[in-house]
Amino acid sequence: PKTTSQSFAKDLCPRYDWFQNDLSITVAIYSKQKDIASELVTVDYEDGILRAEIIIKDYSYLIYLELSHAVKEEIAVHVSGTVGKVEIVMKKKDNLVWKKLGQSLDNHNSFIKRTEREVFYRKCRLVSKSYVTYNTKLFCLMLPRNTHIMVPVGQHVYLKHTIAGTDVAKPYTPVSQALQLDSKELILNESKYIYLMIKIYPNGAFTQEIDKLQIGDNLLVSSPQGNFRKSLLHTVEDLFLVAAGTGFTPMVKLLADICSFRTIKLMFFNRTEDDILWKEQLEQLAFTNKRFEVQFILSEPRDDWTGKRGNISLHHLSEFLKRSHEDSRMLVCICGPTAFTGQGIRFLKDLGYSEEEIYVFTE
Ligand code: FAD
Ligand code: NAD
Repeated sequence: PKTTSQSFAKDLCPRYDWFQNDLSITVAIYSKQKDIASELVTVDYEDGILRAEIIIKDYSYLIYLELSHAVKEEIAVHVSGTVGKVEIVMKKKDNLVWKKLGQSLDNHNSFIKRTEREVFYRKCRLVSKSYVTYNTKLFCLMLPRNTHIMVPVGQHVYLKHTIAGTDVAKPYTPVSQALQLDSKELILNESKYIYLMIKIYPNGAFTQEIDKLQIGDNLLVSSPQGNFRKSLLHTVEDLFLVAAGTGFTPMVKLLADICSFRTIKLMFFNRTEDDILWKEQLEQLAFTNKRFEVQFILSEPRDDWTGKRGNISLHHLSEFLKRSHEDSRMLVCICGPTAFTGQGIRFLKDLGYSEEEIYVFTE
């Protein structure tokens, strides 16, 4: 007998088709979903190889082909969310009639659990590197021209780099270029660049090497990974963000959507004032937007710090988590060092919050 997940996969399995005219080849993927968001579609074309992956719930559908003829270096990807169709349009290099779309590569036309899909990397170019704090830098990576990726809110990518002859991969959460960007600027930017805020640790095995990269160097970047779904936010009125150190990174894109909530409050734990990421930008956002509030809490403050002090505690959380209305729907998102999130979850449960009211960012 079929298991539920097998029949689910069979019912949902997308199919694809292709057609041509004198000038172009179109690959059409019918996802059988009515709400395919652009960010669930990843397309790469390089050296005659086309790879397209669509995420449908917890599953991944893959098109992976070595095309039978040459195409020009400009691929267009159209996602028609409402009908659930993805079209990839490629211009023929020669005016030939194609008899076949291409040669199947590993796992072409497969629909499997997302977690079972091998992580795919493409080469991105480092285009800028700027200081955020004394030990944290904003890396801007340019996507290849024929890559279509949009990393969904709350998800991360892996960076892969060869260190002493061994491939090492670690996760990083893309942020926006700045906290306050207008939405057009954001969309244009995010289709071409990925911004990563990376803390360089003095003894860090990976970050020390990443920090040595020069402008123009290449770095391998994976497709988006992670469990966060925008649908978790749909009915939320009060959003509470509890971050420590670089655990702030998944919160950045959540802050871009302030208008969707009645209130967003950020409680941001750091060692010292100098460690606070985008402190001025956060203060500016709180100043210009009445829906947003930020609190900084330092675990190793200098004597002249007049703000809150200490580590995450029942006391800090119960003071912070005040609903705007008695029965407003709320979500608490938490991210930081493992010990920090572990304590946070315990305190939240002690305060009576349910599992549905807590989201923990993890790998
Ligand atoms: P490591 O070599 O792992 O060392 C890190 C620090 O820990 C150093 O100070 C080191 O001295 C110390 N250390 C190492 N081992 C031990 C030990 N056994 N005991 C005590 N101390 C030790 N980081 C970001 O900067 N930005 C992000 O956006 C980001 N996103 C992430 C998303 C996810 C989903 C996850 C899971 C992590 C994310 N991280 C992010 C963390 C990142 O993946 C790396 O863990 C981090 O960059 C450290 O890498 P490293 O190899 O340089 O340091
Ligand atoms: P940090 O060591 O500078 O600490 C920042 C604050 O976290 C401290 O001021 C303290 O309040 C709290 N803290 C630190 N260690 C603690 C402990 N043992 N117990 C209780 N509280 C503690 O932080 P960092 O170096 O910026 O590290 C950030 C962490 O966030 C990393 O472990 C990184 O892997 C994680 N992270 C996870 C994700 C994700 O899962 N999506 C994303 C980004 C960062």
